[in-house]
Amino acid sequence: MSMQADPCAKPSLMHPDEAIIKLLEQVRPLDESEMVQLPHALGRVLAEDLASSIDLPPFDNSAMDGYAFRFEDLTQGNRFTLIGQSFAGHPFEGEAGANTCVRIMTGAPVPPGYDTVQMQEKVEVDGDNIVIEAPKALGANVRRRGEEVKMGGKVLCAGTQIGAAEMGVLATIGASQVRVTRQVKVAFFSTGDELRPVGSELAPGQIYDSNRYSIQGLLSRANVEWIDLGVIEDDPEAIRAAFRNASANADMVITSGGVSVGDADFTKQILDEEGEITFWKLAIKPGKPFAFGRIGDAVFCGLPGNPVSSMVTFYKLVWPLLNKMQGLPQVKPLLLRAKLKGNLRKFPGRVEYQRGVLSQNAQGETEVSVTGGQGSGMLTSMSLANCFIILAQEQGDTPDGSLVTVEPFNSVLAL
Ligand code: AMP
Ligand code: MG
Repeated sequence: MSMQADPCAKPSLMHPDEAIIKLLEQVRPLDESEMVQLPHALGRVLAEDLASSIDLPPFDNSAMDGYAFRFEDLTQGNRFTLIGQSFAGHPFEGEAGANTCVRIMTGAPVPPGYDTVQMQEKVEVDGDNIVIEAPKALGANVRRRGEEVKMGGKVLCAGTQIGAAEMGVLATIGASQVRVTRQVKVAFFSTGDELRPVGSELAPGQIYDSNRYSIQGLLSRANVEWIDLGVIEDDPEAIRAAFRNASANADMVITSGGVSVGDADFTKQILDEEGEITFWKLAIKPGKPFAFGRIGDAVFCGLPGNPVSSMVTFYKLVWPLLNKMQGLPQVKPLLLRAKLKGNLRKFPGRVEYQRGVLSQNAQGETEVSVTGGQGSGMLTSMSLANCFIILAQEQGDTPDGSLVTVEPFNSVLAL
């Protein structure tokens, strides 16, 4: 009997986790960086470790509105003489002496010689005569110079994405500009003769091109630079020109549509001639067909045309690539377990990313329900959702009340 493979056997589907590993092997972090002014740094990725050139805080200062004094003077009783004031931005300029105190405000420098602050609620004031209730310890309510970070200490590491907190940290150390990795440039276009841009009339059989807008949204959230090349008609020379233009101007080229079997002729033909392309059938729903390749110096990702499929494959496969290219560490999704409300239909065979709404019930339990119809063309299911309900490859129908795995939408998909 012949040992030849059965030519009619269905090719096995690739698990999405395996696809991610294979894809990540294909890209490297961009090794270019640039300086940007701090107000333009949000979302960018630090290209180098950053040390503080100053102590944080830069001087001893008060954590409270109250009175600064010498703790050792409490051995002489609780009575002090008020000799001045230290306000934020206006330090006390006199001399600290025994049994004296100064009025001090939050953030104001603790004058040299004083070491402790008592909050004003625990102080009795009668003109210049002040009675201070003893605080717990020497140094109470004083934020010490350098207690957070010493001069020269590291405050942020290379590969950190600059969010709101990092903007503030950078300002705290006085960084007016910062070295970040160059933004990844992504050019994208839609393919399909049925697609019309918004703003035009639809003839029978036509639909509006929605993928370009959801892809633009995803790319903006991924903090990359994007180039929208529009809808490209199903014509080999138009597609060739689009690919050449895209690859000359971008690090990554993304298309949507035309990667299903039989449908892919032009994309395949052009990329075979101009670069390279592999078609994958992924064990993921929505989003089975996916193409990956290269053209010039750019990597190519071909997303399926169905609107939900293109978003899911972008999120699961393209976003990790962009992160790696930007110099970011890989994000391991934070998976939760939640109680399913309602029954779920599923055939074993593919990992499913059903769109769900995650919430907490009155008992504080985490619950999830699906957002109605789960067709791969039903983009409103993405819009209504705040999470994916992830159902394993071999799982079948899942009854109400089961514990299911949920991946809350992160910064790329959430508002
Ligand atoms: P395809 O992957 O080209 O076979 O397309 C699969 C389905 O997605 C078809 O129903 C297409 O009409 C639809 N589709 C493809 N591209 C887009 C797009 N850019 N916007 C909205 N729907 C699309
Ligand atoms: Mg098509």
